Amino acid sequence: MDLEFSPEDLAFRDEVRAFIAENYPAELRGKQDEGDELSKEDFLSWHKVLAKKGWVAPAWPVEYGGTGWTATQRYIWSEETARADCIRLMPFGLSMVGPVIYTFGTPEQKARFLPRILSGEDWWCQGYSEPGSGSDLASLRTKAVRDGDHYVVNGQKTWTTMAQHADWGFFLVRTDPDAKQQEGISFLLIDMKTPGIEVRPIITLGGEHEVNEVWLEDVRVPVENRVYEENKGWTCAKFLLAHERTGIAGVAASKRGIEKVKTIARAEMDGDKPLIANAFFKRKIAELEMDLTALEFTELRSLAGESAGKGPGPESSLLKIKGSEIQQRLTELTLEAVGHYGAPYFRGFGEGDNEHPIGPDYAHRAAPTYFNTRKTTIYGGSNEIQRNIIAKMVLGL
Ligand SMILES: Cc1cc2nc3c(=O)[nH]c(=O)nc-3n(C[C@H](O)[C@H](O)[C@H](O)COP(=O)(O)OP(=O)(O)OC[C@H]3O[C@@H](n4cnc5c(N)ncnc54)[C@H](O)[C@@H]3O)c2cc1C
Repeated sequence: MDLEFSPEDLAFRDEVRAFIAENYPAELRGKQDEGDELSKEDFLSWHKVLAKKGWVAPAWPVEYGGTGWTATQRYIWSEETARADCIRLMPFGLSMVGPVIYTFGTPEQKARFLPRILSGEDWWCQGYSEPGSGSDLASLRTKAVRDGDHYVVNGQKTWTTMAQHADWGFFLVRTDPDAKQQEGISFLLIDMKTPGIEVRPIITLGGEHEVNEVWLEDVRVPVENRVYEENKGWTCAKFLLAHERTGIAGVAASKRGIEKVKTIARAEMDGDKPLIANAFFKRKIAELEMDLTALEFTELRSLAGESAGKGPGPESSLLKIKGSEIQQRLTELTLEAVGHYGAPYFRGFGEGDNEHPIGPDYAHRAAPTYFNTRKTTIYGGSNEIQRNIIAKMVLGL
């Protein structure tokens, strides 16, 4: 594995740095610095800048709008965007349903949906999980019954991230109740404005409205919105989950996070010395940095494999476990570093707020971020399930 960047890669890195410095939306940067809650328009503002430049979907094949970058260039891109603290683009269109559509979709589906995912015109959500069907996803019960050239869908989805903003959702539904679990599922694209869909908010521990329940009652979906064959939706579902787990390690963002913790620990006092001088705290940062470096090398090994034409294998489970644990440890250290300033539980300025936050700016989101980040070991397939995958696929147990 060659760990040195080539002169071309270094030139690419400079180009990326200059582009971000010149084009990252100033208003968005301001809101991030203030710890404000971000709106749909905020999320889309960076997306649209990248769409215009043609850089919004680096992993897509060039024929569908991808950049044609090498795996190393994609790595540089994620490093540089994290380093510059750019917000993460919503993955549901770009990293999830987009690849399913260009891999399994009809020419009409590709022409209709892919350009709108790239431009940011359609915001997507993922309707997989149901109450009782999360880890055991194939047991899902939302059913779709054929009625002429439509399916009639009834059921309930849950934990549907950002469905409150979604124009479209991709849903797993049961089309054959008599077949073996995995063999009776289809993959439907559903317009979220269709009558019979109700999105109900779930407010999380951090006080945020990020996830939802989605209820479907007699929702009529044209058959032409089914991707791939009827009852073969599990093939698309599995393909999508492998894509969901790559990039989930979040190495670049965690590196940036460690720098932020160090900055806080230099500013916060522990008695008459900065916290950074406290040997116990220093040790915790050092341990985290070592684990992150190990994870980075594992990710680079996996990238080197990808460059050599190997798809994401069971190592994506390892990346997910270690990456998510590191993200949680980072928020624990941040909360520890801000001390009592973490307690007031300030969630950032919402519309119309005129309350003055307590403590320095970097403390405002420490508590809600700590609580929010408990999710990382659950979503994208819980860490216990990832350990099962490693036990079976890597250790042969
Ligand atoms: C913040 C957040 C956002 C999410 N966003 C979405 C979304 O947009 N769309 C979507 O469809 N889903 C979403 N999910 C759902 C997520 O995929 C599920 O929560 C996850 O798959 C776990 O399923 P579950 O919640 O039903 O828990 P369960 O499957 O009931 O698991 C409960 C516990 O038992 C453990 N467990 C279960 N089975 C096993 C086993 N075989 N071996 C060992 N341990 C086991 C689990 O690890 C977990 O600790 C989101 C979840 C969260 C927390």
